[in-house]
Amino acid sequence: MVSLDVIESHPSRIRLRIKGVERAYANAIRRIAISQVPTMAIDDVVILENSSVMFDELVAHRLGLIPLKTDLNRYNLPEDCDCKSALGCPKCRVLLVLDAEATDKIRAVNSSDLVSEDPETKPISDLIPIVKLAPGQKVKLEAYARLGKGTEHAKWQATSASVLTETGKPDEYELYIESVGSIPAPEIFIRAIEKLQKSLEDFSIGVAAQQ
Ligand SMILES: [Zn+2]
Repeated sequence: MVSLDVIESHPSRIRLRIKGVERAYANAIRRIAISQVPTMAIDDVVILENSSVMFDELVAHRLGLIPLKTDLNRYNLPEDCDCKSALGCPKCRVLLVLDAEATDKIRAVNSSDLVSEDPETKPISDLIPIVKLAPGQKVKLEAYARLGKGTEHAKWQATSASVLTETGKPDEYELYIESVGSIPAPEIFIRAIEKLQKSLEDFSIGVAAQQ
């Protein structure tokens, strides 16, 4: 008999005991949690002005790695969106603007300086450093975030840890999922199960079509 016990559930982490399933099935959930549950991340950056000591590419790379709060009910993956546009639309991308300048003293530009057009899609922390500016230096840019998956780039990974351990009893495993903060850990688990279910259904349909 299959059973599932939640040992610990918190927005940042969830720990579950899964009984009565094959190890491969439990491990598939672990792997899907890492690589197939989408999150929002900055993917395109238009630098309008950058007189900081940091190259444009480096600023863009740092922006990409900032985890963004993600509501998966609000946005489509670009490949699934009706707009079918490379530029995206309000259902598949979010614009964040950065306009920062140091006047009389050195200042740090942090994730809190990013202004998002969607208040629900914003950095998970205000304190992530982007660049430091000396007096007279300026950074002005537009950053476009979209949904993506961990298989494409680690910046879209929803989990910072996803671990399966054996409990010593037959067909019993403990699954631990830790969120980077974009999506609550319990939701990552549910989305991973839904994705596995969907993949198995698609596979069945594919097999049936061959017969
Ligand atoms: Zn779209």
